[in-house]
Amino acid sequence: TVRVRFAPSPTGMFHVGGARSALQNWIVAHQTGGAFVLRIEDTDAARNRPEWIEGIISALDWIGIERGSYEGPYFQSSYASEHTAAATRLYAEGRAYYCDCTREDVVARAGNTHTGYDGFCRERALGPGEGRALRFRTPDEGSTVVVDLVRGEPTFENKLIEDFVIARSNGTAVFLLANVVDDMTMGITHVIRAEEHLPNTPKQQLLWEALGVKPPIWAHVPVIVNEKRQKLSKRRDKVALESYRDEGYLAAAMRNYLLLLGWAPTGDREIVPWQVMEDEFRLEDVNHSPAFFDVKKLRAFNGEYIRALSSEEFAAVCAPWLGGTETIAAPPWDPEAFDFQVFADVAPLAQTRIAVLSEIVDYVDFLFLAEPVSDEQSWNKAMKEGAGDILDAAAAAFGALEQWAAEPLKAALEKVGEERGLKLGKTQAPVRVAVTGRTVGLPLFESLEVLGREKTLARLAAARQ
Ligand code: GLU
Repeated sequence: TVRVRFAPSPTGMFHVGGARSALQNWIVAHQTGGAFVLRIEDTDAARNRPEWIEGIISALDWIGIERGSYEGPYFQSSYASEHTAAATRLYAEGRAYYCDCTREDVVARAGNTHTGYDGFCRERALGPGEGRALRFRTPDEGSTVVVDLVRGEPTFENKLIEDFVIARSNGTAVFLLANVVDDMTMGITHVIRAEEHLPNTPKQQLLWEALGVKPPIWAHVPVIVNEKRQKLSKRRDKVALESYRDEGYLAAAMRNYLLLLGWAPTGDREIVPWQVMEDEFRLEDVNHSPAFFDVKKLRAFNGEYIRALSSEEFAAVCAPWLGGTETIAAPPWDPEAFDFQVFADVAPLAQTRIAVLSEIVDYVDFLFLAEPVSDEQSWNKAMKEGAGDILDAAAAAFGALEQWAAEPLKAALEKVGEERGLKLGKTQAPVRVAVTGRTVGLPLFESLEVLGREKTLARLAAARQ
């Protein structure tokens, strides 16, 4: 049976590229009725942090790979003795030898040839000892053919593969070997991972063979790049899955978008239900070329997913930005002032306008703040010549209304405009800024209806002081 694994190193925030690999592995496990294993590769003690481990697990959970639904997490650090045993065995079987060359020696002898280690210690028969690393003896002839579902059969000439280090002088195995031993121990049949690991693959395959186990099938998925075609990097680009979640991307939109990096479903569609992706995704159809992570497109996707929610669902997913349970960002208003029913009244108007959920706050804050936000630029833009007169007239007309509802409010303001030879847009602008503090927002008259007579009139009056 198929066994795949996702094997992140907890050395930083959880990267969107990692999330993509995890999803691809997840799908393959599901399609084949196989197992998905989570293995935390935590052997770089200096760079690991426990909160990043928890971050990976909770980010996976968010994206749909839920705790308890997979095997693991296993921790690489708990298998150190297996790693060392493999190194010892390779030495005992003559597949590896000790080497006391320093890095400087190796570099000096290699000169500009870029061939790496020259095999200096191959025949010296050194035993273990201080300052001696263990190197794997790579074959001098033939080639290593990697069976890769994405890339075909990349072939590496063995004579170009240097005798590489598998264990340090203190006996601990290096990552390359630990990774292989763990995959072996865990019965992994398919290694699906980012293309940046491909240069290590022939070395790793040689280790599988030397340890007497049939190598896995590989799949190296293309790197993800930014708009400048640079590999996404955590210093330059927004790469943390958590930051997308915190901004208000929906997990379903994110999943869909990540799967489309290097792959497309049939029928000229891009936005498709998860089930379709699970049915149609094939590693064999994944592209070789770098995949562009287009944040604008992701935003557009997210907007579509937001609009596909029912109004109840939409109101519920906004809660973490409105001071509800599971707060992601605290809203600017006093929590006491928040009224979910009032929010639910305007939510459908906002649902058609926002692309990420955190934007909801700016659309509805006028309902819950004691005073509208004061934004000088918006104010100056709207409060041109004649604005005071419009505000006074609007206040009088609104104040005289018997029924406080969007339609009569609109009719009243239209009349104010007609009397002054102004289009509705011109008369709306100062009213909108006086009441909401902003020049753009939800449809004005519905907003006023929900805000209510008392607050609307008070704000119109306050704007005149
Ligand atoms: N721990 C490695 C990484 O995070 C994974 C290597 C692999 O998937 O084999 O890059």
